[in-house]
Amino acid sequence: MKLIEPILTNHDLTHANTLGLPCRAERFAAPAGMTVLRRLLQQACAQDWRLTLLGGGSNLILPTRLEGLVIQPALSHWWLERQGDNVRVHVGAGVEWHPLVLALAHRGLWGTENLALIPGRCGAAPIQNIGAYGVELCEVLEAVHVLFLDDGRLATLTPAECAFGYRDSIFKSELAGRVVITGLTLRLTRQARPRLDYGDLSARVGPRPSALDVAEAVCAIRREKLPDPVQLGNAGSFFKNPIVARDVADRLLARWPDMPHFTLDTGRVKLAAGWLIDRCGLKGWCDGHFGVHERQALVLVHFGGGDADELLAFAERVAQCVQSRFGVALELEPRRA
Ligand SMILES: Cc1cc2nc3c(=O)[nH]c(=O)nc-3n(C[C@H](O)[C@H](O)[C@H](O)COP(=O)(O)OP(=O)(O)OC[C@H]3O[C@@H](n4cnc5c(N)ncnc54)[C@H](O)[C@@H]3O)c2cc1C
Repeated sequence: MKLIEPILTNHDLTHANTLGLPCRAERFAAPAGMTVLRRLLQQACAQDWRLTLLGGGSNLILPTRLEGLVIQPALSHWWLERQGDNVRVHVGAGVEWHPLVLALAHRGLWGTENLALIPGRCGAAPIQNIGAYGVELCEVLEAVHVLFLDDGRLATLTPAECAFGYRDSIFKSELAGRVVITGLTLRLTRQARPRLDYGDLSARVGPRPSALDVAEAVCAIRREKLPDPVQLGNAGSFFKNPIVARDVADRLLARWPDMPHFTLDTGRVKLAAGWLIDRCGLKGWCDGHFGVHERQALVLVHFGGGDADELLAFAERVAQCVQSRFGVALELEPRRA
């Protein structure tokens, strides 16, 4: 079969992942429309190419070589549908998340402002149900639009069908590797509904903040706490906050009464992975080309010159320290390609 335009070969993805891990894709394409996307998927299937989907590369650990075809959907349209005070936002998978949040906040639309400055594209946002400052994507999501890889079928999934959880969704389990997310429908409102109960957010804004005020306050706090991937390679939180049984939490609290913890509706208890790593004395620890960030222990950073294998070995050592000190297992948050 003749290669359809526009597939690039031996394409460098080092600058297409925020960790800055060196990676070359055997083949790469960034389709801007559904027709080209479908043709690429058909071709990958016909040629038996391994398929990897790429968004902004901010939650991915890339190997030095990716065989097959890497597709980075570039469906970058979005529009608003007004319904009184409510507004539906239809967004293509290739739209950058943070500029969208700012554009919506500028228009006085409430719902996504606490999720400002999360890197990446809209297509990946439902995969781990992005969340920050007390808000998760699933709270403003009306639908996820997908294309099934096996038969090319288009489908629209409701939030309930997406089985969202903490940094989790059906796209990590039953539908992992089975769909391309092509777009989202968000439901926002013009009615002010600030969510300021997380951290020191309320202290950062005035008494009647606009959606844009909240988004800007979130950005300011995040810039103080998190390294900018443009300056220092990272993938944000490298480990999920572990969720443990009540008796495990009680045992830990008896020994470390100041341990941050949050009891979930299920009775299980969410711990702060960053605190556990910090209490192992690892904040600021560096080895080889990687380190634990000096201000935020949950973030592993890449100083340049390392690769995915070295990063995973480094992360394993961090996780082992936490395991041996607290008896708690840490799980990686970024996805391995
Ligand atoms: C500095 C920093 C801060 C961060 N802060 C947060 C935070 O506060 N909260 C939070 O939840 N996350 C955070 N993240 C993680 C990350 O930004 C999000 O997970 C984001 O949604 C990833 O988007 P992406 O486009 O970069 O996805 P990628 O990293 O490119 O891909 C992630 C996964 O999605 C798959 N994928 C991508 N696009 C599609 C598609 N169209 N269809 C199907 N599968 C697809 C990929 O194959 C991969 O498995 C942070 C990351 C960084 C670097």
